[in-house]
Amino acid sequence: MSLQRRTLIAGNWKMNGSLASNASLLENLLAAPEIAVSGSTCEVLVCVPAVYLPQCESLLKSSAIALGAQDISAHQSGAYTGEVASAMLADFSCQYVIVGHSERRAYHHESNELVAQKALQALRSSIFPIVCVGETLEQREAGRTNEVVVTQLRAVMDVLDDGALARIVVAYEPVWAIGTGKTATPEMAQEVHAVLRSVLAERSGFAANKVRILYGGSMKPDNAKELLAMPDIDGGLIGGASLKAADFLAIIGAV
Ligand code: PEP
Repeated sequence: MSLQRRTLIAGNWKMNGSLASNASLLENLLAAPEIAVSGSTCEVLVCVPAVYLPQCESLLKSSAIALGAQDISAHQSGAYTGEVASAMLADFSCQYVIVGHSERRAYHHESNELVAQKALQALRSSIFPIVCVGETLEQREAGRTNEVVVTQLRAVMDVLDDGALARIVVAYEPVWAIGTGKTATPEMAQEVHAVLRSVLAERSGFAANKVRILYGGSMKPDNAKELLAMPDIDGGLIGGASLKAADFLAIIGAV
C-alpha cells in the first residue's frame, strides 16, 4: 500500500442480510475499537443491498463507516423497470458503488461497455465507482490474465476524462478466487495490480498515483496482512468475510 493512497476496506454483502441481521452486524462493527481508530489507518465501507440503503444510512450516520451500493443502472432515469439510478443512491448518502462485479458480468451478461456506462453514471452523481476486473480460471491458465483485465479497465478509461479517471477505484478480483477460499498469492495479485497501474499511467500519471486498486477474492483475516503489504494493493473488496463482524474487523486490524 502507498502513503499517497488511503487504504480502503470495502465489504460487499451481496444478496445477504435482513433488517435484523444488518442492525446487529453494524452495531457490532460500530462498537468495535478497530472502527474507532480506523480513521487514522484506512477508510471502511459497506456495500449493502439497495433496499437496505435507508436503514444503513440511518445506522451509519456520522460514523466512521461509509455506505455503498452493489450496482447501478447505466441510464439516468426513465423506463428501466427494476433498475436503480445513481441519483437515487446519492439520495441515501451513498459514496461508492460497485460496478462490473464478476457475478453481474457472468449472470447478467454485462459487457465492458455497459460497465463503463455505469461507472460514468456513478461519477455524474458524485459517487465513486469501484470498477471490478478479473479473469476466469480458464483465462488464467491460457495465459490471458493481463489481456482480460486490461481490456476491462480500458473500456472504462475510454469513457472518462483524466479528472474523472482519478476518481475511480479499481478492484482486481480473480473470478476463480471469489467465494472459493482460493486466494491469489500476494505476488500474483501484485503482478496484476502493477499492470493495471501501468495502464492508468499511460493515460495520466496523476490518476495512476491516485487510483486505489483493491484486491478481492477470499480475502480473510489470515491472508489480509500479506496482501495489503504489497506496494500496489491499496485495500480489499471483501465478500464472505464482511458478513462476520469479527472477520471484517480483523481485516481492518490488519491494515
Ligand atoms: C467479492 O465477491 O467481491 C468477493 C471478494 O467475495 P469473497 O471475499 O467471498 O471471495
